[in-house]
Amino acid sequence: MASNGTTYYEPSKDTYGTRAIHQPLDIVIVGGSLGGLCTALALKSLPQRHRITILERNPTPLLHNQGAGIVAGGDTLKFFKRYDRCNRDFAVSSQRRQYLNKDGEIVHKEDMVQNMTSWDLVYYMLRANVDYVESAYCKVPSRQPDEAEVQHLHDHKVTALEEYHDKLVVKYTTKDDKEGEMEADLVIGADGPSSSIRSLLQSDVERTYAGYVALRGTVREDEVSPKTLEAFKDRFTFFHAQGIQILAYLIPGENGTLEPGQRLINFVYYTNFPSKSLDQPSGELAELMTDVEGVRHRITMPPGKTDPKAWEKQRVIASERLPPQFAEIVRATKKPFVQAVTDVISPTNEFFNGRVILLGDALAGFRPHTVASTSQAAFDAMILADYLRGNIDRKEWRKQTMGYARTIQKRGVDMGERSQHQELPLEEHIHDRNLASRPREQEVWPDWAIGDVW
Ligand SMILES: Cc1cc2nc3c(=O)[nH]c(=O)nc-3n(C[C@H](O)[C@H](O)[C@H](O)COP(=O)(O)OP(=O)(O)OC[C@H]3O[C@@H](n4cnc5c(N)ncnc54)[C@H](O)[C@@H]3O)c2cc1C
Repeated sequence: MASNGTTYYEPSKDTYGTRAIHQPLDIVIVGGSLGGLCTALALKSLPQRHRITILERNPTPLLHNQGAGIVAGGDTLKFFKRYDRCNRDFAVSSQRRQYLNKDGEIVHKEDMVQNMTSWDLVYYMLRANVDYVESAYCKVPSRQPDEAEVQHLHDHKVTALEEYHDKLVVKYTTKDDKEGEMEADLVIGADGPSSSIRSLLQSDVERTYAGYVALRGTVREDEVSPKTLEAFKDRFTFFHAQGIQILAYLIPGENGTLEPGQRLINFVYYTNFPSKSLDQPSGELAELMTDVEGVRHRITMPPGKTDPKAWEKQRVIASERLPPQFAEIVRATKKPFVQAVTDVISPTNEFFNGRVILLGDALAGFRPHTVASTSQAAFDAMILADYLRGNIDRKEWRKQTMGYARTIQKRGVDMGERSQHQELPLEEHIHDRNLASRPREQEVWPDWAIGDVW
């Protein structure tokens, strides 16, 4: 028992080496996007006052915003309630879910409150809390006397991981080809679906193409017709057709504003682009993923880079195949971007006797239909803090994180296959969507997902 009354989990001799975790650890977090930042924020409040460093490969101090939306699921909301000190609202709430037919008429509706936010607002709020970055998005909270410092280092691309006595050595390079290394007791791979940490430890895990892409974009709510705004204001709206799904909702606007009139309508438009793989793209996929300067992108085409000729084709298809309200927002978007939908999951989230951990998309990259990627990152961060604090033991931490990763990853694959590659009645799509909204607390992880956890 520690002097402040907290009971710490005493790790077995081979967990974190022989170090007791009530000692401050050198913790290196690889990846400074939402998963890495949530983890840094959750761990910096622990009483051990660990020494935390984030290594982010991006060459500039801030990540480039794609300006797109995320559904703030239960664990994202819980995370912000527990750790955020910016004290601002960060979500636009939708009161109802509804489905349109091709003519734009509502064919199904149900009352359901959901919260939607934007990636950039969440990112800047986390940076304000983690390392006091000033921005137009939110006030920076005051430093707490008892919190750990977090060092955020951009332009640090992690390239290798080695064991040296009871320490891990993390090696990195910078864009000027400078090399460096850093010692750590605990390394956390929060480096996304193409995780370098995962590849270094599990080189056979592949990220595979699902056969379709998400065309994404936003339009300011005051730039669309009243009929179109009516379809998306306070609503989470969907349309399904053979090989197509599109959904849209309102998110915060520039600098995170929640001011009516200035918020954005955010759409995610799934459409099939058959191709053997991302490395050997079909002609059509290659055309879509080749930018205006002729550069081919493998998985994500950044906003504003799409070749106008390739985008024009999508605008025409949108007019022909989508309800008028959806066609209007797709046609009006000025900086569309494209994400190839992929699948990836690591068989485990701990290596080197628990001294290397994977979380968020590095552990399991979900298909976007699950609307759970940010929630997974937030949940993994919170439960890791609970584990290091001693509130839960290793088995429970493994059971909850692997149960979540495996169950939701599989659910995303099933939803995507049904939605894009099968012809189903609308009730089936509604069923899938409602399943994806089930709160994590109500989930019972199936045996196949947790049977091997010890
Ligand atoms: C710039 C950016 C914008 C995004 N915008 C949206 C959005 O608008 N809507 C949405 O739904 N989702 C978005 N996402 C994805 C979303 O953040 C994730 O799906 C989810 O929140 C889980 O986050 P993650 O931190 O686990 O993974 P990711 O968000 O993929 O972050 C991984 C991070 O690790 C870094 N990294 C990778 N390899 C290395 C390495 N070797 N060394 C050091 N750093 C490394 C990457 O640069 C990245 O910052 C975005 C991701 C990024 C990186």
